[in-house]
Amino acid sequence: MISAPTVNSFTPPRRTLMGPGPSDVYPEVLAAQARPTIGHLDPLFVGMMDELKSLIQYAFQTKNEMTLAISAPGSAGMEACFVNLVEPGEKVIVCRNGVFGERMRQNVERVGALAVVVDNEWGEPVCPKAVEAALKANPDAKFLAFVHAETSTGALSDAKTLCRLAQEHDCLSIVDAVTSLGGVELLVDEWGIDAIYSGSQKCLSCVPGLSPVSFSPKAVAKLMSRKTPVQSWFLDQSLVMGYWGNKDSGLKRSYHHTAPVNALYALHEAFRLLALEGLENAWARHKKMHLVLAAGLEQLGLKFVVAAEHRLPQLNAVYLPQGVDDALVRTQLLEEYNLEIGAGLGALAGKAWRIGLMGFGARRENVALCLKALEEVMN
Ligand SMILES: *Cc1c(COP(=O)(O)O)cnc(C)c1O
Repeated sequence: MISAPTVNSFTPPRRTLMGPGPSDVYPEVLAAQARPTIGHLDPLFVGMMDELKSLIQYAFQTKNEMTLAISAPGSAGMEACFVNLVEPGEKVIVCRNGVFGERMRQNVERVGALAVVVDNEWGEPVCPKAVEAALKANPDAKFLAFVHAETSTGALSDAKTLCRLAQEHDCLSIVDAVTSLGGVELLVDEWGIDAIYSGSQKCLSCVPGLSPVSFSPKAVAKLMSRKTPVQSWFLDQSLVMGYWGNKDSGLKRSYHHTAPVNALYALHEAFRLLALEGLENAWARHKKMHLVLAAGLEQLGLKFVVAAEHRLPQLNAVYLPQGVDDALVRTQLLEEYNLEIGAGLGALAGKAWRIGLMGFGARRENVALCLKALEEVMN
């Protein structure tokens, strides 16, 4: 007899998630995920994917044909942008003002390309003047890569200006919008963004594990004219495109990998809810809730890492007050209030808390709970 382990079903508690992601998932999204699994080439599923694609295009504000959700988390979206577009030996200007800019640099190195790093202090946005200087000093650079919303610090960078600079210097732009999509203004076509990736579990309030991406016609042309094949088979977008279908080219949907069927129901529902609310309303709601939270945090004597004009509404990083035990406070919040807030990451580890107001989580009752719990626990 082979003995089997005996374990109970896993039943997580209902927490309030106010960290850097995953965020509170919409109940409708959880319900959508529990619907019956159907085949990934079932005509009804294919129809759902077509709708999902148009919803992603809406959220990104783009007409890009190559717009889809990668069947893996935001990190895979990041990797997809670099492995598809950047070839060995090419030069990429990478902006680094936190953890995720550094990850972009590592991606550039791993594809065998050359990263020229533009550094900014943690908590500061990417400096357009420094980027312009790097573009001028490196006329052979082919790409400009930066993080729109740096989740490790809570700083928002001026994507519109940075993408204009990229265009002026004949560079394609690669933009991390994992935390920005759905939370702050983001206009892919108007700003001329060439490659962009996001994540399902931040301001979209979907379950984790999917990465919406979009590539401009210029980015697609770069991909199609590669001299070397994309070294990742799974992330090769020229292969995946046939799976997500292309109405204009008349490409018939064919098997590439088995889509995470139920997770895509969830993403469809999350984007549907975003469209129902309307992008501008969602941006305004994040801003409004952020202002209420920020006023409360400042009343508690907490200081923001980022200057007011560069703050992300959806990620509020505040310094730990003197003499407060970081881990103890977060454990008490979790155990006594069922409330999760984020610890500091990288240079801010042990020095700051990161309070997320993302998607479904950006609402008054969450702000009120967080302020009350923090006040009680810190006393
Ligand atoms: C969360 C995050 C990622 C990584 O996404 P995962 O889904 O965790 O892989 C990348 N960039 C930024 C800015 C993020 O906040």
